[in-house]
Amino acid sequence: MRRKGFTLIELLVVIAIIAILAAILFPVFAQARAAARSTMCSSNIRQLGLGLLMYLQDYDERFPPPYTENQPTNVTPPGGYFFFLTSIWTWQNFSMAYVKNEKIHECSEGYSERATRNGLKARAHGSYGASLHILRSPIDQAVTGRAPETVAALIAPADAYLLMDSGFYTTDCPRMQNAVVHSFYLPGAKQNNRPGRGQAYWQASTVGPASDIARDAVSGRHNGGIHVCFADGHVKKMQPDSVLWKPDSWNPTGGALPAGVAANPTCVAGPFQ
Ligand SMILES: [Zn+2]
Repeated sequence: MRRKGFTLIELLVVIAIIAILAAILFPVFAQARAAARSTMCSSNIRQLGLGLLMYLQDYDERFPPPYTENQPTNVTPPGGYFFFLTSIWTWQNFSMAYVKNEKIHECSEGYSERATRNGLKARAHGSYGASLHILRSPIDQAVTGRAPETVAALIAPADAYLLMDSGFYTTDCPRMQNAVVHSFYLPGAKQNNRPGRGQAYWQASTVGPASDIARDAVSGRHNGGIHVCFADGHVKKMQPDSVLWKPDSWNPTGGALPAGVAANPTCVAGPFQ
C-alpha cells in the first residue's frame, strides 16, 4: 500500500536542515546590513566633503571656519542650527548651502549628539568632525593668527584629513587625547582619553544619553573602522588608531607640528596597544 504524507522523522530532518541554513544565513544578513550602513556613511561624508569643496570655489579657495560667532540670530543658517546657540553657525551650515540634505549629517552606526538646550531640537554636532588643522576656529585664529587654510596651502590634499566619523563636530588629534569638550573622541580609538576612552567626557555630557556616547566611543562604527574624507574629496575607510598617528595628515601645511600634536606622542608615535 502506498504511503501518504511524511513520517515524523522526515519532518524533523527537514526542520533541522532549515534551522541549520537559517543559522548560517542570519549572520550574513546582519553583515550585509552593516555593509549597507557603511556604504551609506561613506556616501554621506563624501557629499559633505564635496559641499565644502564647492564652498571653496565661491570663497577664493579658502575653507570655512569650523564655527563663526556673533551671527545675526534672526537669520536661520542653511540647514538650521547645528549648535545650541543661535548666534553660532558651524561648518555644517556652510556645507549645507550646497548639499541641502540634513540626513547626511548622521552616520547610522554612530551617535549624533542632539541639543535640547535653548529649546532647540537641532542636529547639534552630527556624526562627522572637520579637522581643525584646515578649518581653524576663531579661538585658534586669535591665538595663532592663522585663518582657515586655502587649498593652495595644503602640500598634499590627498593626504590631508578634512572630515571623519567623529564624536564631535570638529576633530583634532591632541584634543581627542586631552579632551576639553564632552564627546571629543574618535569612535573606536583605543587611545581616546585613556583610561576609560572618553569616559570623563561622556559622563559630563548634558545633551545625550551617556550609554549611547560610551558605545560609540568604545565600540566604534563600521566594524571598528571609520570613514575619512580627504581634502581632495576622496573617502577611505581606516582604523581609528592609524588615523591618529599620521602627523602629516593632521598637519597638512607642513612646517613645525601644531603645538598640541608635537607635544602629544600619541599623535606622532603609533601604533598603539
Ligand atoms: Zn560612519
